[in-house]
Amino acid sequence: MIYFDNASTTKLDNRLNEVIYKYNNLDYFNPSAPYIKSVYISQDIQTARNNILNALNADSNKIITFTSCATEANNTVLLGQLNKRYKKVLISDGEHKSVYNTINFIKNMGFIVETVKLNANGIVDFEDFKIKMTPDVGLVSFIHVSNETGAINPIKELCNHAKSINPNVIFHSDGVQAFGKIKVNVTDLGVDFYTVSAHKIHGPKGIAALYSKQPIKPFIIGGGQQNDNRSGTENVSGIMALGEIVKYFDIDKNYDYVSKLKEKFITFFNEKENVKINSNSNNSPYIVSISFSGVNGETLVHMLEEKDICISTGSACSSKKANNIALASMGLPTLLIKGNIRISFDTSNTEEEVEILCTELYNAYFNLYNKTNRRQ
Ligand code: PLP
Repeated sequence: MIYFDNASTTKLDNRLNEVIYKYNNLDYFNPSAPYIKSVYISQDIQTARNNILNALNADSNKIITFTSCATEANNTVLLGQLNKRYKKVLISDGEHKSVYNTINFIKNMGFIVETVKLNANGIVDFEDFKIKMTPDVGLVSFIHVSNETGAINPIKELCNHAKSINPNVIFHSDGVQAFGKIKVNVTDLGVDFYTVSAHKIHGPKGIAALYSKQPIKPFIIGGGQQNDNRSGTENVSGIMALGEIVKYFDIDKNYDYVSKLKEKFITFFNEKENVKINSNSNNSPYIVSISFSGVNGETLVHMLEEKDICISTGSACSSKKANNIALASMGLPTLLIKGNIRISFDTSNTEEEVEILCTELYNAYFNLYNKTNRRQ
């Protein structure tokens, strides 16, 4: 099997097996229990927090709240941290569904939600943002690296602008596709909240973390775990695995390696007719969006599946729907949105795999295009 859907999820790093085993089978105590074995577990959790703060280049006095997934972390911010003093919430057309689909819930809570357009490069359109960023905006959420195209939003500039208009604005960024892949410095970015997820960086599924400058208003309420920030018995093995995986980050080396894979892929398709690459050279090299005119992207995905190659039509959560808000906002015509697929690279991929991918994908497109046209 050749796997090019690493933005959807990644394989568990074998080095984590030991820590996962340890905290499920040996040191399995509830971190909230009063005996010393449990106290040690809560200390270990604190070490994991510090490792994550360190990987985010955050001050050690900042807060990491563990959640069951990035979706929960994003919901915690979008639905839980709203300030009634300000009526407006801004998100972009490029947000992951875990942000975008909260819109109606936020509206039902009595707030106004506005969406900021993307420019042709897939990043937040600054002119549109300037118009919509008014002093009554209380919360802004902009994705750091797009899960659709790999476009990298200039979060620092966007955050600075938001705070220059309303110094009390809460600024959140979904960093799921950025963390561990590009350099992230939350202190420099200036954000109030930042979301990361373990299973996108070879950690286990079911564990994510929300960075915050201040204690959060709890979204999950119960026994008051995690200093009242998020109730529920902690997923200790997941937390410890996330705290461990960040120690293995080798961002520059991996970035260079994956960039070569992306380059090979782009070079192959650049000159091909009826094919449009929707990701430019400033984007994260881990994700490439490509559109094949006149065919259905989902059919291509299944044709490649028959060759034992996994690719995607976009983020896994939205793969059932033909519409793609991010690509439409970038100005892509429906024909290219329908024929869109997403390739997401990893350091475990090889150049040979990319060669096979290119050949099989192009053959699949060629055959499908001819078949479709003959039928019409
Ligand atoms: N945010 C982004 C940018 C993502 O790519 C994803 C997963 O596809 C999520 C959030 C949701 O992550 P999780 O599966 O941890 O809920």
